[in-house]
Amino acid sequence: MNVRILATLTALSFVIAGCGGARDISGAKSQKAELPTIGELSGPVANVQARKLFGTKAAGSRQRAEVFGSYARGCLAGGQELAENGPTWQAMRLSRNRNWGHPEMIDMVTKLSQFAAQQPGWNGLYIGDISQPRGGPMLTGHASHQVGLDADIWMLPPTSLSLTRKQRENISSISTRRAKGAYVNSSWTRSHHNIVKAAAKDPRTTRILIFPGAKVQMCNDEKGDRSYLRKIRPWYGHHYHFHVRIGCPSGDNSCRNQNPPPPGDGCAEARKWQADILNPPKRKPVAKPKPTKKPVPKRRSGRSLLLADLPAQCKAVLESR
Ligand SMILES: [Zn+2]
Repeated sequence: MNVRILATLTALSFVIAGCGGARDISGAKSQKAELPTIGELSGPVANVQARKLFGTKAAGSRQRAEVFGSYARGCLAGGQELAENGPTWQAMRLSRNRNWGHPEMIDMVTKLSQFAAQQPGWNGLYIGDISQPRGGPMLTGHASHQVGLDADIWMLPPTSLSLTRKQRENISSISTRRAKGAYVNSSWTRSHHNIVKAAAKDPRTTRILIFPGAKVQMCNDEKGDRSYLRKIRPWYGHHYHFHVRIGCPSGDNSCRNQNPPPPGDGCAEARKWQADILNPPKRKPVAKPKPTKKPVPKRRSGRSLLLADLPAQCKAVLESR
């Protein structure tokens, strides 16, 4: 393996690992109480890692579309497949089978791709991971993307929408950052601005995660209405793709929203991230915490979630035809 391939692989694994984790910035907690979990209800499989069960389902459940739980702890009933090819999009990395989402998410990304197709040099969008057919934790990557309401959109402008399956496994997106994410590089264009802005302006969108330099650039370049900038949040990674999160579909009472971002355009916060990248703050030595008598059990998250940790309804989602 040559150095360049190794570097690419390392970069890609970082991209995947850095994508929209459970700690997704401000307001990680949901507003409503969490749903009761499966617990021991599921018998012997209760202690099986949920990713091994959800990661092997080939198709969505034959149920009506409904979200159970939250972005980083939940599952999806009645998931809809994003067609592998559309007039203004292609789904990428088909071998992962993560081109499934809530029908609202599928509608959102297809409409966004129609908008993107009007940008110079863009024939539409390359769509990365959404969710598994029935959501849930994944075998690799992503702590979130569990309920069909998250989607990764590639930064690479699609010039061809007739890529073969094999090409879609092998081509890489482009990075749009320099200086470790403090700034955009020359691959970032006004079209990126326009597409991210259109994604944020969709009323269904609650957050967009992108590297700090892109948010700062958008803050600098936006001369019109700035209210949409509130939804665009600086985060680690997210320079090969940006991450769109939509809110719980209306009337879906078993879906748990994340708290909204703080008021304002968030530009000062993004500039703070930028400054911290350029001049990393010195770490203060942390005093060793005194050992407590009873160690608090660490809450499982992401890929280590057991079936028992998921909302009770996820048992039926898994078992449904
Ligand atoms: Zn993501």
